Amino acid sequence: MDYSEFDKPKSNCGVFGIAGYPSASLMSYYGLLAQQHRGQEAAGIVTRYQDSQNKKIYFFSKKGLGLVSEIFDNEKIFIEDLKGNAAIGHNRYSTSGSNSFFNVQPFIVKYRDGNIAISHNGNLTNAHILRKKLINEGAIFQTTSDTEIILHLISRSQKKNQIDQIVDALEQIEGAYSLLILTDNYIYACRDPYGIRPLSLGILDNSYVIASETCAFDLINAKYIREINRGEILVIKFMENNSEIIESKFLNNIPEFPKKCIFEFIYFSRPDSIIFNQNVDKVRRQLGKKLAEEYPVDSSSDKKVAVMSVPDSSNTIAIGYQDQLRKMNINSKFEIGLIRSHYIGRTFIQPEIDKRKLGVKIKFNTVKGVLQNRDIVLVDDSIVRGTTSKQLVNLIREANPKMIHLRIASPPIKYPCFYGMDFPTSEELIANKFSGNIEQIEKELEVDSLKYLSYDGMISCTPEKDEKYYCTACFSGKYPIEIPEDIKKNINEE
Ligand code: SF4
Repeated sequence: MDYSEFDKPKSNCGVFGIAGYPSASLMSYYGLLAQQHRGQEAAGIVTRYQDSQNKKIYFFSKKGLGLVSEIFDNEKIFIEDLKGNAAIGHNRYSTSGSNSFFNVQPFIVKYRDGNIAISHNGNLTNAHILRKKLINEGAIFQTTSDTEIILHLISRSQKKNQIDQIVDALEQIEGAYSLLILTDNYIYACRDPYGIRPLSLGILDNSYVIASETCAFDLINAKYIREINRGEILVIKFMENNSEIIESKFLNNIPEFPKKCIFEFIYFSRPDSIIFNQNVDKVRRQLGKKLAEEYPVDSSSDKKVAVMSVPDSSNTIAIGYQDQLRKMNINSKFEIGLIRSHYIGRTFIQPEIDKRKLGVKIKFNTVKGVLQNRDIVLVDDSIVRGTTSKQLVNLIREANPKMIHLRIASPPIKYPCFYGMDFPTSEELIANKFSGNIEQIEKELEVDSLKYLSYDGMISCTPEKDEKYYCTACFSGKYPIEIPEDIKKNINEE
């Protein structure tokens, strides 16, 4: 677990699915392992198995709280407990519903057309309204998660065919969703009309695989094919050892432009993934370069400026930053000045602030010889509360650098996310605490200078270089999907 994530927004989920593969559960395990960064509180896998004798179909499930490796901790699980040739899996961080076992996905239900399991990455913005309506109509909920609503809507649909039932359900929900739905004979891969969260299709031998991020494909040697389009419902039929795409349906009223989450590029996704048809690494380097263009740091002595990242999330950005300084003939060098321990485990994932404060020295140490008497440029992707940044600066200060300049590769975060990322309340965000006054934040963090990448600078690093293709709401307050007042209130109270 990355220490820096204590003071970062949490991605709520990662999903993985495989259709028509003999060891589907084992592949799903690897797929979830590769996407562990998208959710560390809980994980689960559901498999579909057909008995060769009586031809009956069974759904098996294993879920738990904790990291993927803690839940799936022995081989027997894959061979005996999770038999089957199709599977979906889920990594979870709770943004909707509490972190109880009942909310761990994939959820499974049985309805008139057989079994359904579902994995969801995102957040529904009309969940409260739909839940209330369903409860008034007599529905019984087993979880507090908005994902369960989708199952109710599918099951209550009056449409005859399963695909139409799913379309019917999706037409009623609003918000961000990248979904995998496993039924007796199909996997449905679905993405919301704005394409807020990523979802990609790949192939392993003759079997289709789907994942939030393509780093999951790399681990199992699957080949990336394409992104699931926004508003698309891709129907994958599976056989014993293979699968085929039999249909691709689209929802009505797909907006003209997508609203891809720009934060996926800045922080959430792994740099070795392709999301939104783009290498994350490429965008992150660009963010670093742009940041250096806007806010370079020159040396105050004959010693080279030490450019360093907060490992691991801002490594790539810091490389881009240093590349640009070099091009500008600034006397600087990329240095590994912070060493991160990778062996902390789950202890520090808990969202209580006291534990967060404890963390810094356990998680990071400085390389004193590198920092001493140098001008340091500490490059980070974002600042949320500022608590982590402050402790890191204090830690670096102990190594006696000459100056510490903090450079942030995104604009100040001022607004919460309602589309599947867990942000602290508006009041807790450091940019709001100091009413956006950068000098005051600089003082609070005790750095010699603090600079954030400009909004236009951030947009210029995206492939389209145009804000109309992106959700930027946490920076700009421009929410592409309207947020009902009661949801705003509810999220702030959670
Ligand atoms: S508000 Fe928009 S840009 Fe910010 S994290 Fe949420 S989806 Fe991404």
